[in-house]
Amino acid sequence: MGKFKRVCVFCGSNSGHRKIFSDAALQLGTQLVERKMDLVYGGGSVGLMGLVSQTVYDGGCHVLGVIPTALVPLEISGNSVGEVLIVSDMHERKAEMARRADAFIALPGGYGTMEELLEMITWSQLGIHDKPVGLLNIDGYYDCLLRLFDKGVEEGFINLSARNIVISAKTAQELIQRMEEYIPLHNEVAPTQSWNVEENHANQKSA
Ligand code: AMP
Repeated sequence: MGKFKRVCVFCGSNSGHRKIFSDAALQLGTQLVERKMDLVYGGGSVGLMGLVSQTVYDGGCHVLGVIPTALVPLEISGNSVGEVLIVSDMHERKAEMARRADAFIALPGGYGTMEELLEMITWSQLGIHDKPVGLLNIDGYYDCLLRLFDKGVEEGFINLSARNIVISAKTAQELIQRMEEYIPLHNEVAPTQSWNVEENHANQKSA
C-alpha cells in the first residue's frame, strides 16, 4: 500500500517514436496499481495518456480524467476509461487535477506535459502546495531540462533549496519511492494558508 491515495500523471498526448516510452507508461501504471494508488489525468485515450489510464483502470484502481469541453470530441481525445469530469477550460482542468492529487508525476511528453510539470513545480515553490513533483526521466529524455534547472541555480534564478522540489528518477519504482520520502525543504514564497487553496482532504490516506 503506497503513501499517496491519488496520483496525477502528466504525459504526452503522443506516444513518442520509441517503444521505450510506451513501456515506461505501462510500467508507471503497473506501479500505481501495485501500490493501490488511484489516477487523475487529462482524460482521453491518446498517446501515453491512454496507456497509463488503461493500465490503472484494468488493475482495478480508480481513474479520473479531467477534460475540457473543447477536447471532449472523440476524434480529438478518444474514449476515456473510468470517471470523467468535464471542465470549461485548461485552467480549470489543471486546478482540478492539482486539487484532487496527493502527488504529481510527469512522463515524457511535449509542451503540454512540460507546462503542467512546470506549473506544479512553481506552485510548490510559491507555497500553494507541498506535494511531491516527480519527473520520470526515461532514457535521458529530460536531461536537458534538468540541466536548465541547474543552470538556473548557477545563474541565480532558482534558489538552491527550491531545486530540491524536482524529484527525478529513471524508473517508476525508484521515482515513487523517492517521492514517498520527499520532505519539502525550500522556503515558501508565501504561506500556504495565504493562498486560500481548497484541498480535497478526503484524498489523504491516514498515516
Ligand atoms: P503534450 O505533452 O503536448 O502532448 O500535451 C499533453 C497534455 O496536453 C495533456 O496532459 C493534456 O492536458 C493536453 N492535451 C494535448 N492534446 C490532447 C488531446 N488530444 N486530448 C487530451 N488532452 C490533450
